[in-house]
Amino acid sequence: MAFGWIDEQAGARRRAGLVRTLRPRPADSPLLDLASNDYLGLAHHPEVTEGAARAARTWGGGSTGSRLVTGTTELHTELERELAAFCGFEAALVFSSGYAANLAAVTALGPHGSLIVSDAGNHASLIDGCRLARGGTQVVGHADPESVRKALATHEGTAIVVSDTVFSVDGDQAPLAALAEACREHGAGLVVDDAHGLGVLGDGGRGAPYAAGLAGAGDVVATATLSKSLGSQGGVVLGPARVIDHLVNAARTFIFDTGLAPAAAGAALAALRLLVREPRRAARAREVAAELHARLTTAGLEAVRPDAAVVSVRAPSPEQAVRWAADCRTAGLAVGCFRPPSVPDGISRLRLTARADLSGTEIERAVRVIGETRP
Ligand code: PMP
Repeated sequence: MAFGWIDEQAGARRRAGLVRTLRPRPADSPLLDLASNDYLGLAHHPEVTEGAARAARTWGGGSTGSRLVTGTTELHTELERELAAFCGFEAALVFSSGYAANLAAVTALGPHGSLIVSDAGNHASLIDGCRLARGGTQVVGHADPESVRKALATHEGTAIVVSDTVFSVDGDQAPLAALAEACREHGAGLVVDDAHGLGVLGDGGRGAPYAAGLAGAGDVVATATLSKSLGSQGGVVLGPARVIDHLVNAARTFIFDTGLAPAAAGAALAALRLLVREPRRAARAREVAAELHARLTTAGLEAVRPDAAVVSVRAPSPEQAVRWAADCRTAGLAVGCFRPPSVPDGISRLRLTARADLSGTEIERAVRVIGETRP
């Protein structure tokens, strides 16, 4: 029977307790949300939703075509200009998602014959970028610049080093300065995914590359998503103008994809302008993360010290992680749950988002629920 193997896989997944299902979120959910990626609490901000609505009214429900045909509006170029200026890069290019932006950056900058050195903890979109790129990929240990240096030393010719700035599972930061130094020693380019850093790290949320003094460098390219701190949807690649021009001409997920929806561009631009006006939001997300971590630790829970707004709590097993998250939900708290195959065996986690708009009482309540439901 066609697709018969799917049933076998489904059975194995059921037996391992790893089935995933979709749970539609009602518009007026009563749950306290520590599961979303809305780090700055901007997704529902009136200026952001109005930015989306105004853009849709002006430019339409969709961008109507690929960026090189009809899908580039004045709104797209405005957003690109302001994102580049905010993050400290020469130029920017927006994509329909952060996933597409990562595929573009890695495939267009690590072509055939080049070496791509990739951190073992990188996000799936960077991993897929490495798979699609025709360069040879060498995966190195997590946050290990010495291994990066060794990998680069074995290769003659062009090379890039690819790393998340903040890793999505544990919320820890990459050693960006050391990676940049290793790249410079070997004439390699550095490509970093700042999905969890933009809006949270650096002065006023300008991102991890800015904080590390790497923004605007000729050999550094950053990607980010517009779907987390900016409360919208879409992705961006930031870098030297000549690199961005190269992506316009060579990146398949740019050329063959429909341009970012105007509503998403309008929402992201409104959120960015809010952040420029209210830079405290970024610091507040970091403060909430620190407070969450401190309270969890005091409650005897094993939480990883957060470098940005992601707080990770270790669970004893995938099954217990799933049950723990479900018990939190029953008690009115939404938390993320990471387990295989999203993470390697042995590191199942609850993943908490330290939203800038959480109150002290909400933080206290979240920690109480997590403590009371622990396996
Ligand atoms: N990189 C990282 C580190 C992410 O966490 C995500 C989102 N899950 C992405 C890239 C993909 O971004 P998007 O959701 O905009 O496709």
